[in-house]
Amino acid sequence: MKYFPIFLDLEGRSAVVIGGGEPAVQKVRLLLKTPARITVVAEQPAAELFEFAEAGRLTLHARAWTPADIDGAVIVYGATGDKALNAPIAAAARARNILVNVVDEPEPSTFITPAIVDRDPMVVAIGSEGASPVLAREIKTHLEAYLPAGFGRIARAAAALRERIAHAIADMPSRRRFWERLLNGPFREAALNQNNEAAEGAVAHELAIAAGHGDGQPGRVILIGCGPGAGDLITLRAQQALQRADVLVIDRLVPDEVVEHARREAKRIYVGKTPGGPSAKQADINAILVREGLQGNVVARLKGGDAFVFGRAAEEMTAVRAAGLEVEVIPGITAAHACAARIGLPVTLRGKLREFTLVTGATAEGHLDLDWQALARQKQAFAVYMGVDSAPLMRAELLAHGARADLPVVIVENGTLANERTFATTLADLTACVETEQVQAPSILFFGLDWAAAGLTRPVHVKPFAATTPKSQPLAWTQAAVAEATHWVMG
Ligand code: SAH
Repeated sequence: MKYFPIFLDLEGRSAVVIGGGEPAVQKVRLLLKTPARITVVAEQPAAELFEFAEAGRLTLHARAWTPADIDGAVIVYGATGDKALNAPIAAAARARNILVNVVDEPEPSTFITPAIVDRDPMVVAIGSEGASPVLAREIKTHLEAYLPAGFGRIARAAAALRERIAHAIADMPSRRRFWERLLNGPFREAALNQNNEAAEGAVAHELAIAAGHGDGQPGRVILIGCGPGAGDLITLRAQQALQRADVLVIDRLVPDEVVEHARREAKRIYVGKTPGGPSAKQADINAILVREGLQGNVVARLKGGDAFVFGRAAEEMTAVRAAGLEVEVIPGITAAHACAARIGLPVTLRGKLREFTLVTGATAEGHLDLDWQALARQKQAFAVYMGVDSAPLMRAELLAHGARADLPVVIVENGTLANERTFATTLADLTACVETEQVQAPSILFFGLDWAAAGLTRPVHVKPFAATTPKSQPLAWTQAAVAEATHWVMG
């Protein structure tokens, strides 16, 4: 670390910018965020600098600079845009032991301006010692997305409480626990929204607990839709909630990459249901959520896609609420929407597709109770979740209810994941496609979505599947077709 990162107190101190073009204006804008006394010296100052001067926000000298201009300054920017002009500025500053930065020239500079994420009073400064400002900015962009715009309000609210809390809780470890609980509980949201009453309520509640009078912090359960699988397809809100969670209750379809957004210390409980394999029963999952919540934990319930789409969320919410715990729901990108994006097919089309339905293909005791008549209608499309096993049954029912044999069907297996596979076929060939390609769960089956009808071309990564009756085995083929049919039209 050649450059030492520090935060400089500029209250009432002098900062001098020499130069009047865009680079100088940028530094001035940054300095205007501080309480420094700003002086700008430039032969041709930009209009904005005159405006700042007129508003009394800085002192402007529209003339050539002289070394006397920097006397008494704590920092100086050489921003003339001219190497030859900047050199004597740096030399004069160095001779006076004044911190100097020559814009875009590390050599004569004694400090570098970092990339800054400003959530005043929380400020993150990022530097690369000049090695790669682009990478530094990339980190800045990530952090900006991660820290909500009002993050500073939480810090300010905490700062306003510091003395009172130090007084109220003498013991250091208890005080640290108090702050952890306070800043991860409802106080955070209240401070962010400047809801003073709610914030004070949360403080009083936590103080009571710290004093041993409380009834324990009420736990909470956050139902988080974690998206279809790719680690970057979760929402910022989900990411932030994961950071707050004490306990994670995790479904099978939630990938490790998503779980990694959580704190390392958070307890992890895997309750994945493997189709056909051993799995936690829904009642057991409900019991885990209630047990962990009642212990005062922030419990994150991680679900694939969106928690409200084939996620049994209602059962979990009912159980959690019945135990007197609060539930928060964070939406996620559901598999059908993510998969439609992967294959580049809109799920509605002006004048052509007016409805898009999400249906389950999971069968209860071999029976699939869907409104086949409605699904077989034109001008609508639908996505089937959990539908791989019931594909033959769906094919037969849809054909029997008048759907076109050449109705387009697209299958997306492991959508958005590294092992994603996609197939385009027709209703007639659906069973053959699923069997030949050995399609596995998790897959989404789209019926009635058609690139040609949408005026689009099929992306190359979507494999066309065209089954032809295997001529060598006509008998076996017919038998298979007979075996899978559930309705017969005799003639
Ligand atoms: N709540 C989830 C759905 C859970 S049901 C959501 O909103 O997406 C599980 C089914 O979702 C799977 O059988 C499959 O049909 C679908 N699914 C989940 N992730 C998928 C993925 N990455 N690719 C394709 N289908 C997926």
